[in-house]
Amino acid sequence: AKKAFVRTKPHINIGTMGHVDHGKTTLTAAITKVLSESAGADHVPFDRIDRAREEAARGITISIAHVEYETATRHYAHVDMPGHADYVKNMLTGAAQLDGAILVISAHEGVMPQTREHVLLARRVGVAHVVVALNKADGADRELADLVELEVRELLAEHGYPDSPVVRVSGLRALEDDPVWTASVAELLRAVDEHVPVPERYTDAPFLLPVEGGLSVTGRGTVATGSIEQGRVAVGDTVEAVGAGPGFTAVVTGVETFGKTMEYGEAGDNAALLLRGVRREQVRRGQVLAAVGTQSAHHRFAARVHLLTAEEGGRRTSIGDGYRPQLYIRTADAPGRLRLRGAERARPGETVDVEVELGTALAMRPGLGFAMREGGRTVAAGTMTEPLD
Ligand code: GDP
Ligand code: MG
Repeated sequence: AKKAFVRTKPHINIGTMGHVDHGKTTLTAAITKVLSESAGADHVPFDRIDRAREEAARGITISIAHVEYETATRHYAHVDMPGHADYVKNMLTGAAQLDGAILVISAHEGVMPQTREHVLLARRVGVAHVVVALNKADGADRELADLVELEVRELLAEHGYPDSPVVRVSGLRALEDDPVWTASVAELLRAVDEHVPVPERYTDAPFLLPVEGGLSVTGRGTVATGSIEQGRVAVGDTVEAVGAGPGFTAVVTGVETFGKTMEYGEAGDNAALLLRGVRREQVRRGQVLAAVGTQSAHHRFAARVHLLTAEEGGRRTSIGDGYRPQLYIRTADAPGRLRLRGAERARPGETVDVEVELGTALAMRPGLGFAMREGGRTVAAGTMTEPLD
């Protein structure tokens, strides 16, 4: 039988971000190793987190890795992503809903383009807290590390993270059990425990889970996975799938997190729901599973949209009626067509009211944030004001 998940500590969603090769995956492995000593984690080796290379060779892309661990006071779900494009996509679609982030920065190299972009992205998608791991401190010149620390503090302050702790660590040496550096990783975790508060969770609202993916489990049926946005779900509940194609209702016959069974899942939890009588192909990324009758799918909505400037990575030219970007809404990614309200054209840097027509009907609500992308870059951030038909 599977182990039961015992909910004794508040749950936090966290992840590593930062420039390629600054040591995100090594640090993720090191955290699980250090905590495995205190029974707070099962050590997850580097190559089980960083499956990107191996999977790429087989023609599959794995874009996100989840590991879990516990400190003395919290239970964490931690995401690590192989490439820069995966950060952009997972963070914008909300597949990585982070309560806090560990910004990994090499003490040799300092702030690099992806360091900057991930900080921007974190701010844009509402990551409230950042803790800095000044990594590769094992071989680093102290004065150089001091300079990098100043540089990263300045970058964070500019983007609304003025009080981020900076901890000098070596993920690599901690993985090699060097006591100086295992202590540095423990110190980093203390900083995360202290600096990232438990966010307010909407556990009393009706259940809602944006579906990240589905899989079939031999002999058991179909499982839908994702992070619970609001409410609670327990075995025996009936849920309804809404949006991104045909819907269905199904009884939940199992709730799990990281392979352990749960009595109930609640807002903030990373959950896998076993659904009775559902075929694998009925479960689709972008769909939501919700309390029956609480959600409906819409093709059109009104929104307020801010067009990013070229300096922010956005367009150089204006947009007009009929503009067709790709929209990222929760875990969904759908083509859209815009109509401007009260303006002929809108230039980068401007905020405009628009009506959006989607290629696929999706569940939505006023206040929901979304991103618009075009040709591999983010061109606008928007907020829904009202679902239309
Ligand atoms: P990622 O792309 O940010 O996930 O970086 P990786 O974790 O894959 O690490 C990139 C390279 O940096 C690898 O060769 C690691 O062995 C090396 N590395 C990672 N952390 C450290 C560290 O703390 N010290 C040193 N010296 N090298 C490190
Ligand atoms: Mg990596």
